[in-house]
Parts: sequence; C-alpha cells; structure tokens
Amino acid sequence: MRIPFKLQVILAVCRLEFERRRYERNPRAHQSRMWKRFRTRTLARSPLYAPHATGSIADFPIQGKVEFMRDFDGINTRGITLDESMSIAMDAERSRDFAPTISGITVGLSSGTSGNRGVFLVSEKERAFWVAMVLQRILGFSFKRRKVAFFLRANSKLYTSVESKLIQFGFFDLLEPMQKHVARLNSFQPDVIVGQPSLLMMLVEAQHKGQLNIHPKRIISVAEVLSPEDQKSISTCFSVTVQQVYQCNEGMFGQSCSHGNIHLNEDGLLIEKEWLDTRRFSPIITDMRRRVQPVVRYKMNDILHVTECTCGSKMIAISQIEGRTDDVLEFPNERILFPDFIRRIIIGAHSEITNYQIVQDSPSKLALFVSPSVHWEAASAALTELLQAQDIQDIDIQRLETKRHQLGSKFRRIYAKRH
Ligand SMILES: [Zn+2]
Repeated sequence: MRIPFKLQVILAVCRLEFERRRYERNPRAHQSRMWKRFRTRTLARSPLYAPHATGSIADFPIQGKVEFMRDFDGINTRGITLDESMSIAMDAERSRDFAPTISGITVGLSSGTSGNRGVFLVSEKERAFWVAMVLQRILGFSFKRRKVAFFLRANSKLYTSVESKLIQFGFFDLLEPMQKHVARLNSFQPDVIVGQPSLLMMLVEAQHKGQLNIHPKRIISVAEVLSPEDQKSISTCFSVTVQQVYQCNEGMFGQSCSHGNIHLNEDGLLIEKEWLDTRRFSPIITDMRRRVQPVVRYKMNDILHVTECTCGSKMIAISQIEGRTDDVLEFPNERILFPDFIRRIIIGAHSEITNYQIVQDSPSKLALFVSPSVHWEAASAALTELLQAQDIQDIDIQRLETKRHQLGSKFRRIYAKRH
C-alpha cells in the first residue's frame, strides 16, 4: 500500500522527534543503534560498501565530491547509473521541468562552485524526511498560514514538496533580475525568506531605497558564508534574527538554535572532525538516514568553528561557518591566511565599508574590491599591514572595480584561484 506523502511527512516528524530525544538522552547509544541499522539496511545493499558492511566506520574510504561521483554507480542501492541520471537531470534543467524521476527516485543536479556538477538521488521517503526536517528544525510548527519565498538556482521537487495548506511556497529563480524579484515580493509579502546572503543583502538595499516593502518574520540564510556584518545588516533592516542552515545537496546537516549557534544533526549524522587548528575543523560526514545514495565519510571542505552552546543540546555546536578550505589563501613559503582574518581586517579598516571582495589570482597577487570605493586605500593599507605582520612579503594588491560574481552563482567574498 502506498502511503500518501503528507502522512509520510507526519510519520517522519514523529520519527525525527523520537530520534532527537533518544540522542539527547544518550548520544553514544543512539548513534551506535543508528549505525547498526544503517549498515544492515542500507550499506549492505550498496555494491561498493557491502564488503565493509560488517566493519567499523574506519574501514570505509573517505570521499570527496569527485570520488562520490566517480563511484556513483557502485554507491547507490538501486542500480542507477550516473549516465542515465545525468542525462535526465540535464534534460529537466533545459526544459525547466523540475520533477525528473527514475522509477520514483527524484534526480537533482547540484550547482557546484568549482564547475564540476554532481547528481543526487532522493526517494520519496527521503523527501518526506527532508520536509519533516525543515518543518521540525527550521520553520517550526504553526497553524497560521505562512508564505515562504525560496530563492534557488533551479527548482526541484525536493523543495516544492514542502507545500501544503499551511505553507504557500513561492519559488524565485536566482537567474532572474532583481527588479522582477522586488515587484513579486511586494505583492507576495512573504512571512519567511530563504536565500543566500548576497541575495539577502540586495533585498536589504532595495528595502532601504524604498523599492521593496516587505515584513518577513523569519529570514533563513543558506548556501553561502554569512558574515557577522551581513547578519547584522539583514536583521537590523527587517527586525528579525537571521537563522542559518548548513546544507548542501548531500543533505541537511545543521541549523541555528535559539542561542544563535549552529548544531549539527548528530541524531542522524556521524561527524568526524579534521582539525585545521585548535578551533577550526572540516567535517567528514556520514548520513545514517540516507537510503538510495548513502553518504559515507563524505568530506566537506568547509571551515567550521567549534564552540560550546548552553541551549541544552548535546549536538556539536558551531559558532561560525568561515568558508571553504579552498578559500584559505596560500602564499609563498607555505604561509597561509584564513578568510576570517582578512574579513576582520577589511571591515575594521573603516566603519563605512559595507562590501568587499578579495580574489587571489596568483600566490603573490591579490585583487581587492571595496565599497564605498573611497575607502579602498584604507582597506588596502590594513591588508598590507596584516600580511607584513604574518611575515608575508612582496604581495601585489590590485584594485578591483567591480565584484566578480556571476548572476545565480554563489558569491564568494574571499577566494583563491588555484585551478
Ligand atoms: Zn544551541
């Protein structure tokens, strides 16, 4: 018998609530039960993982995006090949038909910042869990009808499945011009906005100019790094706190708590930490809730700052997502700079600096964009001082007149061109 989707969502919410409580009571015992179930129910059906399915997590290979796609056919438990899913996903994107499926499995295409696009597979049940997660941990329950404006590069069945009588969902295509969004938002009047910080900052600007007039009750930042400055501007402009969701195509990994920290959902995830220094780490994630395309020891190249949270949850707390390990600037003589140092120094150079970007074109060449541009010299001098203090010599800082940002793509405030 096929269970209606909405009922599946309700069941998933109950299951998630149960699992969360069981985790908080005894994290280790809960995780070992989840791991055991994941091994027998899922990994034993994956051609690549089945041989390890009786061992411990350390027996599995660590994978990045490249390996995850390379081994696509062997990883998924339904015998779906990368070729067929890629061609279905590409066709769907061309025709802007966002509901491609292979025997009931939704096929999604990831944007990918480094140009290599990936494919992900999600079953209906997994979709129900995703929706339940959004309802339970991000939007929260409410019997009031709410309108959600969701900014995305491409729509997907995954997202539209949140729709119900209580939640009306407006999909905004990031590839469309801002004026169009502003007009539509003014008439839609969303209660909730979900979008990337660079887009949210454009909404702030439009609201200040009086072109936009909306009063959302919640703003949720996704996809890009949310800097403390942007967080402040957005929350001041709309008089709301900005929540963050740590998510990628491989799953929903965490979200802000009432204390403003991001907790990783360890009731369904095993998190291994690859330490970068005493505070920063990159997570290696195993998602024990995935069934069709298991995510096992998937290495994210994000830089997370671990912290202690007093909200009561035992799940790992993150104070900040600093950026990606690709954004760490590398200089001659093996000197490196984390993006957060640069951010502080530029913002600190003058109180009026609202926007900036740094691109490392080559190890000894930086391009700097500053807005308002009158403060470029101050920012450049502060940056030079920082470099010298770190014993990084002979770096050429050039002026960048406009930001390097392609419409619809993720905005990267600090990044190194290494390819
Ligand atoms: Zn907390």
